[in-house]
Amino acid sequence: MSDYIVRAMAAGASIRAFGAVTTNLVEEARRRHHTSPVATAALGRLLTAGVMMGSMMKNPTDTLTLLVKCSGEIEGITVTADSGGHVKGYVINPHVLLPPKNGKLDVGGALGAGFIHVIKDMGLKEPYSGQTILQTGEIGEDLTYYFATSEQVPSSVGLGVLMSKDNHVKQAGGFIVQVMPFIEDKVLNQLEENVKNLPSVTSMLDGGMSPEKLLERVLEGLEVTITDTLPASFYCDCSKERIEKVIISLGKEEIQEMIDDGETVEVMCHFCNTAYRYDDEELENILLSL
Ligand code: ZN
Repeated sequence: MSDYIVRAMAAGASIRAFGAVTTNLVEEARRRHHTSPVATAALGRLLTAGVMMGSMMKNPTDTLTLLVKCSGEIEGITVTADSGGHVKGYVINPHVLLPPKNGKLDVGGALGAGFIHVIKDMGLKEPYSGQTILQTGEIGEDLTYYFATSEQVPSSVGLGVLMSKDNHVKQAGGFIVQVMPFIEDKVLNQLEENVKNLPSVTSMLDGGMSPEKLLERVLEGLEVTITDTLPASFYCDCSKERIEKVIISLGKEEIQEMIDDGETVEVMCHFCNTAYRYDDEELENILLSL
């Protein structure tokens, strides 16, 4: 099954909901970054949230960045998504290894204490920026808290990444459900009851549930309308020309030194781990263009 996002409304328009299956894109992130199981789970959860939150924006040029800065061994996570189902991301320490906690990957332990920043660049003068303290470091709960306090939108965020024994991503996905101010008490009570009794996202996905079924389960007893679906994928828009800007930013002297050293310079894209190499001649050309 390919990755995709489902957008839905429920109980009139008093609830908006997003569901996603992201198994392939999280596996691609694992493969590109060689992440340990707990790092894959942490990155995968943030990628899943990012691709859904990106799809909440309107314009093709809008970008969303989720930035975790934390004291735990993983040190930090960066995820960037657009409004069209494209997402990319990386962790600072991909090799973090921790013993499981209650039989599960200890994502909260890998993150420790810290902050989550949400930056939305929608082409305005100043990008929107919100920041909250990590509550549990499990990411789903942290984003639930972020939505409630920073955006004043009561929400429920469920995210899950299930690893296989041979360290591949077996299942990944999640949901975001948000309530509008005009929601009826009866509907809100039903939703709260559903969320309270919800199995884990990984167990629902592992039981064969599609994102549509996931949302139907979260919104059980309510009238649900699926509005549309959107393919989701790991995508990085880096290129040799873009990475060249990194070299230019080092300044003339530094570039001259690299030429004098006579070694091929390699610059990695953080987001997708692609290596770009520049030989003497290319460096000379960059220098001439300055
Ligand atoms: Zn890249």
